[in-house]
Amino acid sequence: MDYDAIIIGSGCGGSAAGAALAGSGFKVLVLERMERVGGRCTTMEKEGFKVDIGSHIVMRSEYGPFEEALKRVDMGGKVKFHHIQKQMIQYQDMKFVMNVPKMMKLFQDLMPTDMLKMAGQMLPMMTGFMKTLSDQFNYISTKEFVERYTDSLAVRDLVNHMGFICTWTPYWETSTGEMINIMLEAMGDMMRAMGDGVMCMGYPIGGLISYPAALCEGIRNKGGEVLTDADVKRVIVEDGKVKGVEMADGTVHKSSIVVSNAGIKETVLELVGREHFDAEYADGIEALRPSWAVYCLRLALDRKVMDIDGAFTVPDPDVEKFDRMVWEEHEVPEDILPPLMITSPSNMDPSLAPEGKQLVVIIGGCSYEPAENWPRWEARALESANSTFPGLKDHIIWKDFLTPATYGALGEWGAPLIGIGQTYDQVGEKRPSSKSPVDGLFYAGCEAGRGVSGIGMELGTLSGIKCADYIVQNVKVGSMTA
Ligand SMILES: Cc1cc2nc3c(=O)[nH]c(=O)nc-3n(C[C@H](O)[C@H](O)[C@H](O)COP(=O)(O)OP(=O)(O)OC[C@H]3O[C@@H](n4cnc5c(N)ncnc54)[C@H](O)[C@@H]3O)c2cc1C
Repeated sequence: MDYDAIIIGSGCGGSAAGAALAGSGFKVLVLERMERVGGRCTTMEKEGFKVDIGSHIVMRSEYGPFEEALKRVDMGGKVKFHHIQKQMIQYQDMKFVMNVPKMMKLFQDLMPTDMLKMAGQMLPMMTGFMKTLSDQFNYISTKEFVERYTDSLAVRDLVNHMGFICTWTPYWETSTGEMINIMLEAMGDMMRAMGDGVMCMGYPIGGLISYPAALCEGIRNKGGEVLTDADVKRVIVEDGKVKGVEMADGTVHKSSIVVSNAGIKETVLELVGREHFDAEYADGIEALRPSWAVYCLRLALDRKVMDIDGAFTVPDPDVEKFDRMVWEEHEVPEDILPPLMITSPSNMDPSLAPEGKQLVVIIGGCSYEPAENWPRWEARALESANSTFPGLKDHIIWKDFLTPATYGALGEWGAPLIGIGQTYDQVGEKRPSSKSPVDGLFYAGCEAGRGVSGIGMELGTLSGIKCADYIVQNVKVGSMTA
């Protein structure tokens, strides 16, 4: 065999799996079809600005799974974070701005920093126990849960939008247990960050690519290889066992272990082929529902218009009505401004924009079909963001609009923002396992990992680490005996 393990894709899931395997002594080859690593967690240059393709906020920054993955290849501490200083939550015309330094001072006055740090260390020990309780809520939607207690539209709108930001699934499908687990797992990190006087949420200095690039550097330092512009055409399977991969140019790389970060449907139905799975398994994979599709409007501004790091906005009620029109009727609602996630990466890392200029990124959910709606989404997103930050429209040097097709090109069916939806019927024990029925084939990233919870990039990272740890502990390299 050429390699102990081949990883298809260098998104958060693939890079983390590659790092965890390389750190355990595996000879690893990572193959990425794009010209740069990172998948939906990557950054590129455009007319003097450095712009990310997707993600912007890392929920647990260096306190969470990113650092765990980096440590596996001795790169701990290599990715530095800006911690959010000013965050806005908008509901209709009410705008609440959290001034984080002031909030932190208040917390520290109330609780000594040593106590906060100690609580931060102890909480994760209790998380396992608390998870057994919260798992009971896995299969109940947040809508059903909230409606047990209130019929207030404002409460429902905010719970809906917050859940949406974490899992990017519609309210009537978002798993309550998953939402609780995401918070539980983050709580210890939040306390530790408070003990250090910062908010846990952060943005990596240098742009999102800093993280997968550091993992890939670590993989290379451990003797592994990372190839970009390397499109895998198929996974070679003989007699139910993985033998390696064939590239689009016909090159073959041999290994008895292939970890695919390419999306579970693409892997099973296209890269491997239905014929290698029993029909029930293949049908089950085909039936998995993705999280919502996403668009991203990026604005380069000739001056600073937005003076906060990030905003979650709900300019108009009613979010459920809006979501149903988009999700079920495939409409672009004209009477409700879209709820958005708006960030300014250049506020968080000024090196991303030329001096005096600003980069603003506007993210919203839409349905993948029909494509003719996409230009209308661009107009509505700009309208909505401008209603929150008046003046945005008047200072644009350039703008570009990434449609769901951009994200679809990365492999995941339906161009989801996250991956397989964290809905009440697809979380916990119902989430696809990282281990496939084909000997030697595994999945890593936001599309697999039984029992793994988290937000976007951290979910992908945790899935990658968990998958690699399973392989290290259970699989004999060269001859598959899982
Ligand atoms: C606009 C947007 C905003 C977001 N905002 C946030 C945020 O603020 N915070 C957050 O935590 N998450 C956010 N997310 C979600 C997060 O980016 C994703 O959930 C996460 O990055 C997915 O990681 P992954 O490893 O599962 O998949 P991906 O990042 O999609 O990686 C898959 C990789 O596999 C490669 N690949 C596919 N097929 C092949 C093949 N045949 N051969 C070789 N390579 C292949 C792809 O090119 C890609 O690099 C956002 C996503 C988007 C799109």
